[in-house]
Amino acid sequence: MSDVRNVIIIGSGPAGYTAALYTARASLKPLVFEGAVTAGGALMNTTEVENFPGFQDGIMGPELMDNMRAQAERFGAELVPDDVVAVDLSGDIKTVTDTAGAVHEAKAVIVATGSQHRKLGLPNEDALSGRGVSWCATCDGFFFKDQDIAVIGGGDTAMEEATFLSRFAKSVTIVHRRDSLRASKAMQERAFADPKIKFVWDSEVAEIHGDQKLSGLTLRNVKTGETSELPVTGLFIAIGHDPRTELFKGQLDLDDEGYLKVDAPSTRTNITGVFASGDVVDHTYRQAITAAGTGCSAALDAERYLAALS
Ligand code: FAD
Repeated sequence: MSDVRNVIIIGSGPAGYTAALYTARASLKPLVFEGAVTAGGALMNTTEVENFPGFQDGIMGPELMDNMRAQAERFGAELVPDDVVAVDLSGDIKTVTDTAGAVHEAKAVIVATGSQHRKLGLPNEDALSGRGVSWCATCDGFFFKDQDIAVIGGGDTAMEEATFLSRFAKSVTIVHRRDSLRASKAMQERAFADPKIKFVWDSEVAEIHGDQKLSGLTLRNVKTGETSELPVTGLFIAIGHDPRTELFKGQLDLDDEGYLKVDAPSTRTNITGVFASGDVVDHTYRQAITAAGTGCSAALDAERYLAALS
């Protein structure tokens, strides 16, 4: 068993690294589990990030995350490129187990494990991510001025993405597997009233085409099996997100959609000494800057909690 740390941080996206930076600068010597394959978080899978303040000309996602990592490390954060496979958060001393079975102890834990956007599961989807394929209209809509775009999905998020994108796009085609939408009435009406938005019903994406850039989709009608081509240079996949909360089930309170619940505006969870931040909590904003912001809040909450213990 290792020495008891002040704080262990689980996750290395903007939330985790920001929490690491703040707790390191507060001399708390955080131990950060970055994740084995996905260290750096969601922005490692994208190209240009134009909306993170401070980078006038934009910055590549992986470069932004490398900078955040180096900044946290500079102040003494201990970074481990490994997954946490089990946690026991119940006592005053929390335990976190890594993939080798080593158990690490801490007085406070910050959870920043993010969420995973659902994928269509098609060849080319990952390769063209950031090259026409996107999961975030707020992040990438601006790159698609005067282009033809497809949005996949039938819920509120898909309608919101489509109506937002129609400000920039030449056309937006919503492709939905069913013949009616799941989205709220108000969102549906907004989309139906938008002259730039059209619908392809009962259809799914069968193929994503493009070499270095997206060039089009093959759609398949799920009722007739017929296929058709949709020439688009933008594809926004809006079929949902899965927060990474498996580890915490039965210990931390989750909401109906599986996100961690916090005592907002603080980052306190239902267990004393455990804080949560970033997209594992947030199903509303889902931005790098908001994740970094709540990572900062979690660090300050943890710092105050630890100060009150001594
Ligand atoms: P994440 O970035 O998802 O990081 C979570 C981390 O937790 C990962 O490092 C993972 O390895 C780690 N982890 C999970 N489970 C474990 C475990 N058991 N043990 C150890 N580690 C674990 N936002 C913008 O503001 N601008 C953009 O331009 C933009 N573009 C985007 C492009 C793409 C393709 C995607 C997918 C998202 C984009 N976003 C953008 C959204 C932004 O990336 C997220 O909002 C942000 O990364 C969330 O940060 P986070 O720290 O909460 O989680």
